[in-house]
Amino acid sequence: MKIYTLRRICVVCPECDLIFATSQVARMPAVSRDSKVEADLHRILPDSAVRAALLGTCPECFFTWWLSAFDQSPVLPQMAPDAPPVADSKKFGHAILTGRKSGVHALDTAVVALNGYWCAREEFQPGIKWLELASKDLEAALADDSWWGNRSRYSYILGEVLRLMGNFHGAVRYFNQVDRKSVLPKELVDHQIYQAKVGNDKPVLLPPHIIEAVFKLKSAESIQENTAINHPGLHPVNVPQVIV
Ligand SMILES: [Zn+2]
Repeated sequence: MKIYTLRRICVVCPECDLIFATSQVARMPAVSRDSKVEADLHRILPDSAVRAALLGTCPECFFTWWLSAFDQSPVLPQMAPDAPPVADSKKFGHAILTGRKSGVHALDTAVVALNGYWCAREEFQPGIKWLELASKDLEAALADDSWWGNRSRYSYILGEVLRLMGNFHGAVRYFNQVDRKSVLPKELVDHQIYQAKVGNDKPVLLPPHIIEAVFKLKSAESIQENTAINHPGLHPVNVPQVIV
């Protein structure tokens, strides 16, 4: 059964040590051939609250980051103050502020901005401001040669972000930098280059065979990988980053 569930837990703010209650994703089905995945490689979640629950926001100091960066506390959620009532996509804005204050890499804030865009879409809000933030930080991250990781895949993502912003020339420039190291099907990259060339700035849904190829759905190992993808953490920039 494809059921997403949230549960209440208590966590400790890493900045001010306050214990507060927040929602955590308790269950999220793995990506499958039938999932709704767009060409920017994100899965559409059924409710913006699910994506927002990937972040924790302290009600005292507003420190906001991936919930996996917070220690869990055994305190019962009903005994602790609640996380502040911040709109789902706005949490990603707080996370960008926290990331900047903490001096994280542009790639980390870019991934937060991408999730802000996806969350805004899940809230039926316009996403252009988020795309602008994501494109700036992705460009800054790709201009920095000091990290290793799947740079080719990030070039693809930036190409797609620029296409969605209507910057078709920039999109094609980054799509053309995608090589085999991206481990993305050539059919997908070629298709998105074509979309940019014909001036399509709309989101594109991936067909099942492309989803299968992108997420390597056939082996058990890959399914585990996809489970990990569902739970982003605070990664240093030299480990594979969370996209979905
Ligand atoms: Zn705090």
